[in-house]
Amino acid sequence: MITTVALGDGVGAGFTGRAGGVSTAPYDSLNLGGAVGDDDAAVRANRRRAAAALGVDPARTVWMRQVHGADVAQVTGPSAGGVPGAVDAVVTTVPGLALAVLVADCAPVLLADPAAGVVGAAHSGRPGTAAGVVPALVERMRALGADPARMTAAIGPAACGGCYEVPAAMRDDVAAVVPAAYAVTSKGTPGLDIRAGIAAQLAAAGVTDVRTDPRCTIETPELFSYRRDGRTGRFAGYVWLQDDEPDTTDAHGDAHGDAHGGPHSGARGDGHGGVRGGGRDDASWEGR
Ligand SMILES: [Zn+2]
Repeated sequence: MITTVALGDGVGAGFTGRAGGVSTAPYDSLNLGGAVGDDDAAVRANRRRAAAALGVDPARTVWMRQVHGADVAQVTGPSAGGVPGAVDAVVTTVPGLALAVLVADCAPVLLADPAAGVVGAAHSGRPGTAAGVVPALVERMRALGADPARMTAAIGPAACGGCYEVPAAMRDDVAAVVPAAYAVTSKGTPGLDIRAGIAAQLAAAGVTDVRTDPRCTIETPELFSYRRDGRTGRFAGYVWLQDDEPDTTDAHGDAHGDAHGGPHSGARGDGHGGVRGGGRDDASWEGR
């Protein structure tokens, strides 16, 4: 269900897959996207399952309203009070607060400076990469005390350059600002290698400790792919600063019991109360 990534001491990170959820076709089964037509209750159940597998609190998880831009928000809490407006990157210094990015072909990018206690997540597809969302995130993290030379990064599964076919003019537009994204597909047609572009952007920003998940979403049935399937689900990348408190089993073993009696019951109430009353922030948004 989960592919974990080591981004340093005190930092948790991972990417979800397709298996292990409750959604039915075409969202089978661990769809975490709330704006793709899937049943809301199923999405919430899937988000609880993913959180349990990762060891994070589902009510302390920040979901963005992603719009393929380059804006970055600093967040200190989940949902209702969490993300101001539509952004494609979030950063936090708050331990125990998980940042999530939804994708199905776009690249999920996770960043951390464990020593500074700063983590960030970005949604970087074609428009976001051209707009520089990842460099913008690095810059925001630097403003919070992070040092690019000390940062670790993970670029998650995404459409590869061999599969991601685009019109020649579109490739030229992106390559004009991110030359490393220029690609030729396996068919010999114009393509884009978004992850190569992001890696080059990270290097230019001074971030050299970069792990790239080699999986191509289009070629991997175990991952959601919008290009391959059209109507489908979204998987997610998560990154968080681990809490100093010992992580006892009751924190994640029984979501309902914990919701009412656990150490974070106040935060859960805020998150879900705001969500249900105010506009479904926790399950509304789509990313590609
Ligand atoms: Zn591919």
